[in-house]
Amino acid sequence: MFSDRVKAVAPSGIRAMFDKAKAFDDALYLCLGEPGFVTTADVCRVAADALMAGDTRYTPNPGLYALREGVAEKLWRENGIKADPDREILITVGATEALFLTMMTLVNPGDEVIYTDPCWTNYVQQIELVGGRPVAAKTREEDAFRIRASAIEEVITDKTKLLMLNSPCNPTGALLTRADYEDIAALVKKRGLMVLCDEPYEKIVFDGAKHVSLASLPGMADFCITINCFSKSYAMTGWRVGYVCAHRDIIAQMVKIQEPICSCISGALQKGCLYALTHSDERVAEMVAHYKKNRDIMVPALNSMKGFSCLVPPATFYAFPNIESMGKPSQQVADEILEELHVVVSPGSAFCGTVGEGHLRLCFASDTDSMERALERMAKKFR
Ligand code: PLP
Repeated sequence: MFSDRVKAVAPSGIRAMFDKAKAFDDALYLCLGEPGFVTTADVCRVAADALMAGDTRYTPNPGLYALREGVAEKLWRENGIKADPDREILITVGATEALFLTMMTLVNPGDEVIYTDPCWTNYVQQIELVGGRPVAAKTREEDAFRIRASAIEEVITDKTKLLMLNSPCNPTGALLTRADYEDIAALVKKRGLMVLCDEPYEKIVFDGAKHVSLASLPGMADFCITINCFSKSYAMTGWRVGYVCAHRDIIAQMVKIQEPICSCISGALQKGCLYALTHSDERVAEMVAHYKKNRDIMVPALNSMKGFSCLVPPATFYAFPNIESMGKPSQQVADEILEELHVVVSPGSAFCGTVGEGHLRLCFASDTDSMERALERMAKKFR
């Protein structure tokens, strides 16, 4: 009955934990990658006012011009990427649709797509949905999970179609430096690779570190498809708005297939997003300060627990402790933590490839109080 396409896709191991946790009324969630904040009232008001003023109709396939223009200005101001709002930017249903449009536009059945292992589960699901072959380029904990150009080069073949990069990285919190990107840029130019740069966590960086966009490096713009969204930076996950910036020929194909996939994005929500782009600096700084405070509570707490060894993530709101010394599969440890402590964490095995096994992912984006209660429950078991 079902298509080979859907049969090829494994369900998300993160969502599976979330669903299992529904059995426990007092569950504390450290599993989904979601800001603990709601969207600020002023941003909501802009969208609500637009709806009340009658902005309830279809919008153009590529998105409202005003938002594309706002995104182009943001990309230049913050990322050093030059883009023509008319032909090089498309507004999407979150970063998720932008990723999927990239797969649909570039990947034929049998093409190889390189992802950095470990990675967000949806990447491999999407590669499989379009009939591509996911190929892991392994990161190493000794490198703070920053992918090395040499690890990418090792897995390039004549079937390689696309390289997927995600910095700052879900699930490891790894942040690629300019020097890392210079090595990768040299490889990309040498091998003529197309690179998808997925950057939703760009603003959630700590300790003075700075996110770099590969597309801003000299001569790299035409090799890069840069994807971002409003979800994580501005606590707007439920709005489902993102964008993609790429060469105009790629965007033209994406705009064409936007129509049969979702047609367009709500105009009122796009107006809220445009407002968020230019009115959120203070709020983003407050949220990032909160995540840093939580990180600085969570990481030492994990490191004081028996069997845990956790690097300090320079970015994102994820801790990715090593639990190999427990000698058990990460799924089993995550299940025990859920069943015995009613704390919901994600097993490292959910993050594709093989590198994530022997780890757990814990999200520290929630309120400090419930995060601390979860850590207290864990400290009792792992002492
Ligand atoms: N990319 C990464 C690395 C993510 O972690 C997520 C969400 O968790 C997304 C993309 C999806 O973002 P959106 O909610 O805007 O679709």
